[in-house]
Amino acid sequence: MAEQRYEQRRRDPLPEETDAWEALVAAARRTVADGLVVGTSGNVSVRVGDTVLVTPSGVPYDRLTPDDVTGVDLTGRQVLGTLVPTSELPMHLAVYATTDARAVVHTHAVHATAVSTLVLELPPVHYMTGALGGPVRVAPYAPYGTPELAENVLRALEGRTGCLLRNHGTLTHGTTLDQAYDRTAQLEWMCSLWLKASSVPHHTPSLLTESQITEAGTRLRNYGQPG
Ligand SMILES: [Zn+2]
Repeated sequence: MAEQRYEQRRRDPLPEETDAWEALVAAARRTVADGLVVGTSGNVSVRVGDTVLVTPSGVPYDRLTPDDVTGVDLTGRQVLGTLVPTSELPMHLAVYATTDARAVVHTHAVHATAVSTLVLELPPVHYMTGALGGPVRVAPYAPYGTPELAENVLRALEGRTGCLLRNHGTLTHGTTLDQAYDRTAQLEWMCSLWLKASSVPHHTPSLLTESQITEAGTRLRNYGQPG
């Protein structure tokens, strides 16, 4: 896809926006390096105050520079940069409008996308399901970039920090970019795990109960170094 630019006076990025952009570009490059997307698929956004920094449409992530800071306000009006924001912006804005998310990661990860074509919900084969708030739902299909897809995603995200998008990919959010990214990686890993376990002939994977998932979620929230 050709790179699109148009000239219009925008404000200059604040120092914290410049820093957030650097982290966003690094995360976007990681989605390619980690095999979660191919080419310019997928997109990443970070909220700084009432500005949402977002990957531009159709520009390879290794070509993004510190000067390419692209940002919109919470209604989608562009306030930073001249590159056209990702076409999947409505989905990102919908998440920021309805949750306390500070970062959103959207990918076309292969195992997760495969699972999105098979079930309505990822069967809870692993306790990391608790880290996403419970069994991960699949949002019904709608064309990319549409308000309809954004609505479907919001419904699938209720009480969750991640969902699958049928015949499309993944979306996770977090209070930091690292957290949102890690949730995508965990989701893709769990999808791969379920595909492996459920493809063993004459066997059915055992699933965790609701209370086991809840307990794991509580333990995960308290996990880490004390203090
Ligand atoms: Zn997509």
